[in-house]
Amino acid sequence: MTTITESINQPLALTGGPKAVTRDPQDILDWPIVTPEDEQAVLDVLRAGSMSGTDVTRRFEAEFAAWEGTAFALAHCNGTAAIQAAMWAAGVRRGDEVICPSMTYWASGLPALTLGATVVWADIQRDTLCLDPASAAERVTGRTKAIVVVHYAGYPADMDPIMALAEARGIKVIEDVSHAHGGLYHGRKLGTIGHVGAMSIMSGKALPAGEGGLLVTDDRQIYERAILWGHYARHGDLTITELLAMSGLGRPQAASGVPIGGVKGRINQLASAMGRVQLKHYDRRNAEICKAMNYFWDQLDGTPGVRAHRPPRDSGSAMGGWYTARGLYVAEELGGLPLARFCEALTAEGCPAGPGANMPLHLQAFNEVDIYGDGQATVLANATRDVRAPAGSLPVSEAINDFCFGVPWFKRYRPEIIDEYVAAIKKVAAHADALKA
Ligand SMILES: *Cc1c(COP(=O)(O)O)cnc(C)c1O
Repeated sequence: MTTITESINQPLALTGGPKAVTRDPQDILDWPIVTPEDEQAVLDVLRAGSMSGTDVTRRFEAEFAAWEGTAFALAHCNGTAAIQAAMWAAGVRRGDEVICPSMTYWASGLPALTLGATVVWADIQRDTLCLDPASAAERVTGRTKAIVVVHYAGYPADMDPIMALAEARGIKVIEDVSHAHGGLYHGRKLGTIGHVGAMSIMSGKALPAGEGGLLVTDDRQIYERAILWGHYARHGDLTITELLAMSGLGRPQAASGVPIGGVKGRINQLASAMGRVQLKHYDRRNAEICKAMNYFWDQLDGTPGVRAHRPPRDSGSAMGGWYTARGLYVAEELGGLPLARFCEALTAEGCPAGPGANMPLHLQAFNEVDIYGDGQATVLANATRDVRAPAGSLPVSEAINDFCFGVPWFKRYRPEIIDEYVAAIKKVAAHADALKA
């Protein structure tokens, strides 16, 4: 067996040396983990012929709210629908602005356009990859109705300054927890700190249920508004007079509710059934992911050119799920070696790695596209000012390919396998001079 030190001293695989990663990865990268328990739960729903019911879903929601620690959880057909509902429930309306980090999946921000509102893109912090509170503060105007915070790649965003900023201005904070289920910020569970949390439970996410989403909140107004928005069959749950009036219930012609949003957010009960099983095992699986990823990064501590993407020890904050696990890169410590070349060498060692993360959203084509026939770009048609962020305006997001790279997302704690990936990174860092030549 080759030790990490021996491995480092061999020539790079890129230049004809032996690969650092040679073992069978087994199931260490596999996800989601589906067992006969998931299969049975899904079969039960199929055999009961109740894919479109809500009994399994209501059980899932009750269990999810208990796990999350919120008064309410409302399941949705996907994370995008949950985020759109959260925005409307937070009061986002025509002409309003929603601040959102540029470095995220599109669904964190784009649903604002469907509400007649617009997105104001903000920058991220280099070490956390999450919304930079200072950048958000610079972009607040009288029209800002909500701030979306994304706990990017599992990292808990710096919520305290964002909540302080929001509370002072009467702005709602929506936490997008799609990357970070079960993570902690100063001891508090992600999704419970803002006014409302929304998250995907799509099959690739840390908490996987096929396709689905959750909206979580302690605020009954927000919960009931989300029901009114997209859950027509559940208008019977409404208690708030104003919302009841909007639902049309009580009027003779309205036998059942009509969703105010003209959208349907209901989750398929097959996904709810799988979600219940996945949730039951989630804390244990997340703990193993954390153990494996922390073991990986602990060994890389002090390696020139690379930094872990995780909160400091003893901060009371913890990664959740490590979805789309990232590493940070410091080219200056490797004589300016470009990250793309570093990743090429890593991939040759058997550790697939690529620079970057999501594409910065503020530079995407929908800056120009006229979605609703306004005769001008929708982002402008919905706004009272030019909200577009030109190239150069969000420098950290734009530099993502220079300082951030994908690392293996370990789901199992198998040190002898993880060691080989550690060796690959240490080896490439040790041979950086050879790569530059
Ligand atoms: C996946 C994802 C979503 C959207 O969820 P879907 O279930 O795919 O609709 C939203 N935000 C982030 C950050 C995501 O990664």
